[in-house]
Amino acid sequence: KRLILVGPPGSGKGTQSPIIKDDYCLCHLATGDMLRAAVAAKTPLGIKAKEAMEKGELVSDDLVVGIIDEAMKKQSCQKGFILEGFPRTVVQAQKLDEMLEKQGARIDKVLNFAIDDSILEERITGRWIHPSSGRTYHTKFAPSKVPGFDDVTGEPLIQRKDDTAEVLKSRLEAFHKQTEPVIDYYSRKGILSHLHAEKPAKEVSVEVQKALS
Ligand code: ADP
Ligand code: ADP
Ligand code: ADP
Repeated sequence: KRLILVGPPGSGKGTQSPIIKDDYCLCHLATGDMLRAAVAAKTPLGIKAKEAMEKGELVSDDLVVGIIDEAMKKQSCQKGFILEGFPRTVVQAQKLDEMLEKQGARIDKVLNFAIDDSILEERITGRWIHPSSGRTYHTKFAPSKVPGFDDVTGEPLIQRKDDTAEVLKSRLEAFHKQTEPVIDYYSRKGILSHLHAEKPAKEVSVEVQKALS
């Protein structure tokens, strides 16, 4: 299957994607993770992306489409994939369709993590991440056994620089202006499923399974 996860920051995309990946053995591409790796490594791409990311604005379509195109060629994503956090603009969605058309492929399903904005500040400001594995915790909803440290490796957890109430405001603004039209784009194609993303993570997983079955 070829899947897209779309939803505002903190809606639970990163929490659900490993579960889907384990169940369907798909290639998993998250543009936010790829961009953060590029920023950390100070690659030319990272240098260009850094400022927009820190401000909570979207990185340019050309840069993001470029990294997705490259990553899909490098990893073997022919049989199926999960895209997390991409496409975030209608231009990105159109470019993706063009890329897939060349391979005679198309998107099977788009999961919309529907959630009210008012819940997201608590989700985002309580998020703790184990950088090397991507495991995500939450001070209230998914605490690690030892606060501040990863359950599996014991290594320290970090908080993302942009996971503040302040930057969240810009990220939400970008979501409503630029990404909501993407949801309409897939709705018109008849491949959109809505999830109740405000529910506890286990219940969201059940909805994900249903949407994909
Ligand atoms: P979240 O998981 O909180 O929704 P991401 O990790 O997906 O956030 O994205 C972090 C930042 O990376 C975004 O605020 C944006 O600056 C940039 N970014 C990620 N994906 C895209 C994309 N598809 N288009 C433009 N910018 C992106
Ligand atoms: P996204 O990738 O969409 O930005 P995450 O999956 O990283 O969102 O989730 C944001 C934060 O909220 C994380 O700290 C995560 O542990 C927590 N979280 C994820 N899903 C839920 C849920 N259904 N209920 C409560 N907290 C959740
Ligand atoms: P402090 O020195 O105030 O404990 P920290 O940055 O270590 O500062 O953590 C801030 C708060 O979040 C603390 O109350 C800590 O116990 C809690 N915390 C940190 N990481 C996690 C996590 N992964 N799960 C649950 N609680 C956490």
